[in-house]
Amino acid sequence: MSLTVKEKFVLPEGMIYLDGNSLGPLPVGVEDAVASMMREQWGAHLIKGWNVDGWMAQPSRVGDRVGRLIGAAPGSVVMGDTLSLKVYQALSAALQMRPDRKVVLSDSGNFPTDLYMAEGLIRQLSQGHELRIVAPDEVAEAIDETVAAVMITQVDYRTGRVHEMDAITARAHASGAVMIWDLAHSAGAMPVNMAASGAEFAVGCTYKYLNGGPGAPAFIYVRPDIVNDVNPALAGWLGHEAPFAFDLDYRPGEGIERMRVGTPPAIQLAALERALEVWDGVDMQDLRAASIALSEQFIAEVEAKCPQLTLASPRDATHRGSQVSFHFEHGYAAMQALIARGVIGDFRAPDIMRFGFTPLYLDLNDVSQAVDILAEILRDRLWDAPEYTTRQRVT
Ligand SMILES: *Cc1c(COP(=O)(O)O)cnc(C)c1O
Repeated sequence: MSLTVKEKFVLPEGMIYLDGNSLGPLPVGVEDAVASMMREQWGAHLIKGWNVDGWMAQPSRVGDRVGRLIGAAPGSVVMGDTLSLKVYQALSAALQMRPDRKVVLSDSGNFPTDLYMAEGLIRQLSQGHELRIVAPDEVAEAIDETVAAVMITQVDYRTGRVHEMDAITARAHASGAVMIWDLAHSAGAMPVNMAASGAEFAVGCTYKYLNGGPGAPAFIYVRPDIVNDVNPALAGWLGHEAPFAFDLDYRPGEGIERMRVGTPPAIQLAALERALEVWDGVDMQDLRAASIALSEQFIAEVEAKCPQLTLASPRDATHRGSQVSFHFEHGYAAMQALIARGVIGDFRAPDIMRFGFTPLYLDLNDVSQAVDILAEILRDRLWDAPEYTTRQRVT
């Protein structure tokens, strides 16, 4: 079974793109959609576009499209800002829901910005909160009655390790904690069912597996039965009940609308809205099966042909997201050499070579070709050259 629809993406000739987990490629049609939005909406209608072209409704309209991919009911997801800010919004709301508890629990596999945002919020609150960071496999047992919020990224950005969403959420709730999931490496990568999980909050970005383009807006999900009790810390005017009443005091808007902050990025949302059309008709269970087939073949071939590398990801595919990582002492240089030969992955300190598998535009043949090129680089030490060993700003 293949889900591959390469013709729906602009992929440079000769490139094998194994980095869609970091920045998805440009879907066909997005360029025209953005150009026509600019010409026919912004250019022709100017400020009338907020009404006649529906720009003001876009954050929730696009949110519903994302919602379908993460098992969230219509009206429970809204777009805006960046993921770092959505983490802050979710966590600040969660802490207000448990004022008598002081611990934020996360794990050492979390992406640093999530932890930094938590630290910053805790400092600013000055209410004696504490960020407790445990090893990924110790999260469940570390949830106790002191924990106000459990804030976990479902798929580890380095290793691809997957946390069990339902089990951890149930554990958090059994202890009375609020659950926040970061879906940065889950949305568009694997089936997610927010509604079934019962978690209060989820956040994620759209420039990775959802192909919304660099700087595409983030999303936030709030469980519908609690959203009207959520008190937004980022109390922007577009999350107000009546933004255009221009009241002097803040009253949160109805439902998920209260998680909006300021003016939505209408051009970037137009790009994302068009980009999300590639998911029409894609069954996430089929996507998962195809993703596992790609990553299983990659691991088998790398282990057969590249003895220098050791697997950093879980071997069991059910415990892995849609990426595979290997340790290699000279991983940075080897990745640079690989990129120079048209195979794009990335490197994460200290020694991780990371490869993303995105079935919509990759097939098994791409995987084999990529491994052959990698094997040659390692066998002939082609990475051992000054142009590959000097670090650039973005790795
Ligand atoms: C990619 C990623 C981010 C990035 O946050 P931005 O605010 O969009 O830069 C945050 N958290 C996780 C877990 C990520 O994987």
